[in-house]
Amino acid sequence: MEERGSPDGDPARSHEQGPEGPETPIQVVLRVRPMSAAELRRGEQSALHCSGSRTLQVSPPGGGPDVAFRFGAVLDGARTQEDVFRACGVRRLGELALRGFSCTVFTFGQTGSGKTYTLTGPPPQGEGAPVPPGLAGIMQRTFAWLLDRVQHLGTPVTLRASYLEIYNEQVQDLLSLGSPRPLPVRWNKTRGFYVEQLRLVEFGSLEALMELLQMGLSRRRSSPHTLNQASSRSHALLTLHISRQTVPSVDPGEPPGGGKLCFVDLAGSEKVAATGSRGELMLEANSINRSLLALGHCISLLLDPQRKQSHIPFRDSKLTKLLADSLGGRGVTLMVACVSPSAQCLPETLNTLRYASRAQRVTTRPQAPKTPATRQPQRLETEMLQLQEENRRLRTQLDQGDCKASGFSGTQLAWAQRNLYGMLQEFMLENERLRKEKSQLQSSRDLARDEQHVLAQQVHELERRLLSACYLHQPGPGPAHPCPCLMMPAVPCHALPPLCSWPCCHFCPLCRAPVAHWAFPRRELHLPQVYGPEAPSSVPLSARPPPCAPPCSSASTRSHSDWIQTRDLAEMLTKEEVVPSAPPLPMGPPDSSPVLRGAAGVPSLARRLEALRDQIGSSLRRGQSQPPPIEGTRNPSQALPPC
Ligand code: ADP
Ligand code: MG
Repeated sequence: MEERGSPDGDPARSHEQGPEGPETPIQVVLRVRPMSAAELRRGEQSALHCSGSRTLQVSPPGGGPDVAFRFGAVLDGARTQEDVFRACGVRRLGELALRGFSCTVFTFGQTGSGKTYTLTGPPPQGEGAPVPPGLAGIMQRTFAWLLDRVQHLGTPVTLRASYLEIYNEQVQDLLSLGSPRPLPVRWNKTRGFYVEQLRLVEFGSLEALMELLQMGLSRRRSSPHTLNQASSRSHALLTLHISRQTVPSVDPGEPPGGGKLCFVDLAGSEKVAATGSRGELMLEANSINRSLLALGHCISLLLDPQRKQSHIPFRDSKLTKLLADSLGGRGVTLMVACVSPSAQCLPETLNTLRYASRAQRVTTRPQAPKTPATRQPQRLETEMLQLQEENRRLRTQLDQGDCKASGFSGTQLAWAQRNLYGMLQEFMLENERLRKEKSQLQSSRDLARDEQHVLAQQVHELERRLLSACYLHQPGPGPAHPCPCLMMPAVPCHALPPLCSWPCCHFCPLCRAPVAHWAFPRRELHLPQVYGPEAPSSVPLSARPPPCAPPCSSASTRSHSDWIQTRDLAEMLTKEEVVPSAPPLPMGPPDSSPVLRGAAGVPSLARRLEALRDQIGSSLRRGQSQPPPIEGTRNPSQALPPC
């Protein structure tokens, strides 16, 4: 068989290069079984002719040109089991397994085409009867070779075997101590797909291994049908685990270190009509065909270079899960395609030939598993090399591409980048500082607003008392006794609504003091309401009604100058307004506290409140000591309105 793994013909050598080895195609060997006695009896003709050691000619039944298929090796019906064993290069796979690779040999083809015969020889002639040595299949021959090889290695090797079958999409342990029961197929990152609780039996001699093989073969399901008297009804996987490591694995979840050699005897595809399967046989046939279809689908996708990078539906069947590593992973794989020479089987044979032709274009990336002791440094070394390479590439890009685009030299570019980075850092710090300052300003503004609200209420109350005091000293009709509202809180008195909208009704309903309609505590005219932050922003400040607008009626009891004075008070308050806005950018020295700036209006308001108190006091004193001044003779500079 022609080796295609490496230029020097040693795939193992190239497999060990790098973290992922070079791509290696699946090797395909074609075996044509001889015409069976039954076929000859029926007078069936052979439609296949071998041409040289690697080409098969197919003659279409209706005439026409032959179709040629080329494989790694083609073996006709005259070739012995030993010929097949040698031509397949299984010993080389055994060597790779001893060096830690994961190797798979699987047979593929139509039912009755000789798959089981090729792997394990003819079916046993009786209970416990061994297969004649001359007819022993690839498996027995490999076992003998391997045990002989291990004896001459000179280093301790641990050999273990597992044997399972996939029957009707259920995995069963053929070496289980009790009766076989379905086992789950799991997946993890280190092991890939694996069968949980599968029994691994350690063996030290060829005899022990042969016993395990016989045990599994005798448990495996097989049934007779039209095309095969001992047709396998399940896919069977016998795996030899070869471990040369002396230090046990640290992680209990780790697979046993070392190589694997797996023999897969697939159940054959079958046309139910041709095999005459009914009932349970038909169910088995459907299950077999479904899993083979999934296998074919995966192979097709693996051939598509674009799809190979993405998703391959290995999870579609148990068979594809367990063959995932052999087909698309890190294994070394050999396929032995088996066909019947009979012209009656030609459609199925052509299917197998096409299938095998495609499979030999599928590549894997063989990789020997690393021992835990060597894995870590090697991984780190690989990472370091990758980073160094990336670093070098980025430097080159920076020097070439960017310099070309900007016209800067490498040094200038580096300097500019450093500067930009510094500026960016400064901006970020400045941004953070402004953010803090803004939040301090907001809280001081809220404090000032609360304080202003309290002061405005005090002003309002004082103004009310002032008006009442003036009224008490006014000659003419009215209550002679002191107004009760002087003693009462403001709200129950002046907060009462006017009786009507006429000026005559603009008296305090309790004390009968003339109160301008604008002084009624309508919500929209209430100072903190009008000038508070709740004022509709759509109305400009200048266009809003003043807090103490003069009465529109000429019948008002107040003169124009009164309004001027009261408006002064309103303006004083207006000036204290804190309009919510974004805090200004800091202009002063950096250490000046933003809290002081925000509360600047409050002391001024307090001063004005104090002045107002003085005015009230002096007004009251004046009212007690002298008669009220005649209208028009008042000093216009007086702050108090006449009553
Ligand atoms: P498969 O496993 O593909 O269904 P088998 O291996 O069971 O087919 O073979 C079917 C029959 O053909 C068996 O009786 C087997 O002994 C016989 N047979 C297959 N290949 C050969 C061969 N190369 N030489 C002689 N007999 C063979
Ligand atoms: Mg079989």
